[in-house]
Amino acid sequence: MISLKINLFINNEQVETEQYTEVRDPGRLDEVAGLAAKGTPQHVDAAVKAAHQAFLCWRKTAVDERIDLIRKAANRLEAGIPGLTPIVSKENGMLLRFTKGEIHAAVTVMRHLADLAAASLQSKRYEDETGWVSVEKVPIGVVAGIVPWNAPIVLTMQKLAPALLSGNSIVFKPSPFAPIGVSTAIQMIADLFPPGVVQVVLGDADVGSALNKHPLVRKISFTGGGATAKYVMKDAADSLKSVHFELGGNDPAIILDDADLDKMVPQIVWGAFRRSGQFCFATKRVYVPERMYEDVYERVVSIVDQFKIGHQLNEETTFGPLINRSQYEYIKQLTERVKQSSAKMVELGTKLQPEQWENGYYLSPVVVRDLQPNDEIVTVEQFGPIMPLISYRSEDEMLKMANDTEYGLGSSIWSTDVDRALCIARRIEAGMTFINGIGQSALGQRYLPFGGVKQSGIGRENSELVFDEYVEYHAINYHKPQ
Ligand code: NAD
Repeated sequence: MISLKINLFINNEQVETEQYTEVRDPGRLDEVAGLAAKGTPQHVDAAVKAAHQAFLCWRKTAVDERIDLIRKAANRLEAGIPGLTPIVSKENGMLLRFTKGEIHAAVTVMRHLADLAAASLQSKRYEDETGWVSVEKVPIGVVAGIVPWNAPIVLTMQKLAPALLSGNSIVFKPSPFAPIGVSTAIQMIADLFPPGVVQVVLGDADVGSALNKHPLVRKISFTGGGATAKYVMKDAADSLKSVHFELGGNDPAIILDDADLDKMVPQIVWGAFRRSGQFCFATKRVYVPERMYEDVYERVVSIVDQFKIGHQLNEETTFGPLINRSQYEYIKQLTERVKQSSAKMVELGTKLQPEQWENGYYLSPVVVRDLQPNDEIVTVEQFGPIMPLISYRSEDEMLKMANDTEYGLGSSIWSTDVDRALCIARRIEAGMTFINGIGQSALGQRYLPFGGVKQSGIGRENSELVFDEYVEYHAINYHKPQ
């Protein structure tokens, strides 16, 4: 059994705290994945002051030097994958292969951003007979990086890399449900950088809030739920900090009537149920042409029924537990209400170790049919293993339903006619639309700006656009003598 004790990490030093919190394995509640230090607002103050001191020197380093260090950090993280993978899976309940893929994705993102940094951070100069203008990109200062539990390593590294490449320092506050992996990953690479450039404070909302309110923090980069983001925005208001939000979604998958169901339904199912539905751009609702509805339903059910539900470290498992009691209770209550409604739902899959069912946050994957467009299960971000299927008659009707939401993160269109899919894609209100896939292709990992519209986010992560989140513009205008 893995048992780790994780301290705060301030100024490249371990800082012990008075209290430690047990991080439970969500698939074996009688096992402790590790102990995490419980920080206080005083620890936050120490970390931010150290980050500010570090920033004053780090900002002066050459971009090439920072690029070199991020590449070295990516190499170290890659070398650490075998050790880090079980640590993360044990605490956040994700299958080993998902965590391994996630850390590889983190390494890829770091390398892509290192490749893009020099060009993206360059200043621009314009000149005529009246003078010249230099538009320069300068670092902002101390960044607060607040990350959730569901894909903690990639979500941390896609903040760390652009923040540091741009010349900022960053203080992370990981989720109390996945503090060990993030802390371990950061401690693996931190000594590449001067002390104070990257640090970790651990704790609950009070620690996150103290970080967000700190006057020396100039920017907040937050990934998490919309409800939390509203508190973050209020905390940012007093000192008018800039915020970057990567929030939840209610992503529609839209099947067009020319879709190749043999090929596409398995991918749509995967796009909804991977990570037990606990990823931000998971499909949360599927729109199906009326005449294909029965066929799609039968296909979905037969695939989902093959899931093997069990512990995340068991290689046989294809479907792991949920993260915590509140999410588990929320999904159970949602499905209870579906059972009371006119919709029909089926619970599927096979329990690998039925005797352990109550010893983890295990729920069976659920497919729901015969829904109304405004049913609760269609309109909320479930963030769990539920796939609602909604039938439509016309494209206009389907688009109206798909866009009738305050969310706007991702979306997907499934069709054998790419031009037709593109026309529909352009009418979707979302930050990202995937055609015949869910998530980025290899090219998308480099160039797709990741993020949402409406209440799914503010700003973008990844691609060259992410650097805009981590710089200020300093404009210098010289007036030539006339
Ligand atoms: P959450 O909002 O509960 O927590 C996110 C982080 O905020 C955690 O570190 C938490 O401790 C911290 N926090 C909580 N209250 C705070 C406060 N008052 N001030 C400062 N920090 C505070 O989210 P979660 O349950 O960890 O993650 C799930 C949510 O994250 C889902 O809504 C999901 O869609 C979203 N998410 C979005 C993306 C994206 O890129 N768009 C990626 C992954 C997850």
